[in-house]
Amino acid sequence: MAGLIESMFARQLEERKQRLQEAATRASDPRQIHDLLDDVDRALAKISSGNYGLCESCHEPIEPDRLALDPMTRYCVDHLTENEQHALERDIELARQMQNRLLPARDLILPGWTSHFHYEPSGQVSGDYCDIIAGDNPAESFYFIVGDVTGKGIAASLLMSQLHAMFRTLAGSDFSLSELMERINRLFCEASLSTHFATLVCGLAHKTGEIEFSNAGHCLPFIIRERGIERLSTSGLPLGFACDAHYHTEKKALLSGDTLFLYTDGLTESAAHSGELYGENRLLDLLKGASSVSPKELLESCLHDLTRFSGRGRRSDDLTLMVLRKE
Ligand SMILES: [Zn+2]
Repeated sequence: MAGLIESMFARQLEERKQRLQEAATRASDPRQIHDLLDDVDRALAKISSGNYGLCESCHEPIEPDRLALDPMTRYCVDHLTENEQHALERDIELARQMQNRLLPARDLILPGWTSHFHYEPSGQVSGDYCDIIAGDNPAESFYFIVGDVTGKGIAASLLMSQLHAMFRTLAGSDFSLSELMERINRLFCEASLSTHFATLVCGLAHKTGEIEFSNAGHCLPFIIRERGIERLSTSGLPLGFACDAHYHTEKKALLSGDTLFLYTDGLTESAAHSGELYGENRLLDLLKGASSVSPKELLESCLHDLTRFSGRGRRSDDLTLMVLRKE
């Protein structure tokens, strides 16, 4: 494990130790706290001896996701006790159900637009963020967001739900779109580990067909018009990279029948058995016929093409697709 990450865990553990020591002085029965202190000391000793992050049973690395959630984790998933396995399965199922409830409603009525999205975790939970949020005047505008937190699994899904809470709280207040992005970036920087970041496109779509958008290092969305396809090329730093990053916005006008297509790299970086990646060119070929089909049909043909390319079975990465069509 990289020294930087180990020293980050050491810092977290030292902090935890200090808090436990303070709690022990106040507790009427400090025995349980002393047991926890022993666990922290054991983890710190492992960092000193270079064994930190290795399963105590098989000596293989513990899943980074689980270590990030609990720096004192001692066993890899394969070597949990049966009770621990069942508890973990229950937790993950609960997390999956909670995450499903964070998705926007499928039957949202948007002012002047129709939408369709596809959200598919590679495992039980996803690190992708997909959202549609009403603007300050819901009859006039709405926000659309497609993003991707580094990593997969539970740790990524927790950060995704943080993003969801931040956007749901702050979108629609008096902030301009770039202020919104800058505030959320700052909050995300403060709330997440320095090893985690998120790429994301957030836009504000108006009833008139005008969109304003900002891109934090995410896959470039496309506008599909009758006369051709346009790539929205502006991009800033991923969220969580630098607390004081600035986010610029750009505006485009969509006409009736024009389509905005957003996706996560679970699409373009999906690999065939040969190792070849799905790639942007293949996507562009598929999008060429997009203006003649409904948003739902467009997503279906995209998924069909992806499955034909990479084969059936579980996807290797979380996948999100969103289509917005100007009516
Ligand atoms: Zn193990």
